[in-house]
Amino acid sequence: MRQLPRPLQIAKSWIELCVNPGDFAIDATLGNGHDTLFLCKLVGNEGRVMGFDIQKEAVESTRRRLQLHEISESVYELHHASHSTISRIDLAPVKAAMFNLGYLPGGDKSVITSAEDSLAALQAVLDSLASGGVVTVMCYPGHEGGDTEAKEILNFCQMLDRQVWQVQRVDELDQDQTRPFLIGIFRRGN
Ligand code: SAH
Repeated sequence: MRQLPRPLQIAKSWIELCVNPGDFAIDATLGNGHDTLFLCKLVGNEGRVMGFDIQKEAVESTRRRLQLHEISESVYELHHASHSTISRIDLAPVKAAMFNLGYLPGGDKSVITSAEDSLAALQAVLDSLASGGVVTVMCYPGHEGGDTEAKEILNFCQMLDRQVWQVQRVDELDQDQTRPFLIGIFRRGN
């Protein structure tokens, strides 16, 4: 058997199902910019990607990656700001948003996403999500703070109206409760 897809690869395949060239997408946690690059390539030159990170290094490293791959500057807009500020931005209908929670690998492990900000951002993005759009959330319950954040995200998802939202969860059926897991929130329609 070939290797099974990792949760992040599954997140990307969900996004590929929903996003077309010209669409608008959000990377709520830039990190090293891998997901931003993925989104920029999907939306193409006519599309738009907005990204957020509270760490300057993450914004700079993402910018370098996008430049290296010759992504047109007209496609992306990177904010050195918390994703909780998304609620203040008037968003065009969003087709996809990616949240990759936790800390930046290879960076400062004390800087982690928080339930409060992540939920505020998630709510703001869902409010602007187009029919047929998707939000992916990678949760990492394995570090201190990540466990409560993961629980709160799950509680939030449990409350979503199933007439409007289809919610999927991917994780390993395992005794280890600390493994990362993926949530996909799809807006029904189209
Ligand atoms: N855990 C993942 C990577 C997550 S990177 C993995 O192992 O692959 C998470 C990023 O979110 C970090 O770069 C961090 O700076 C950023 N971040 C933390 N709080 C944030 C906030 N409130 N708004 C935006 N980005 C945030």
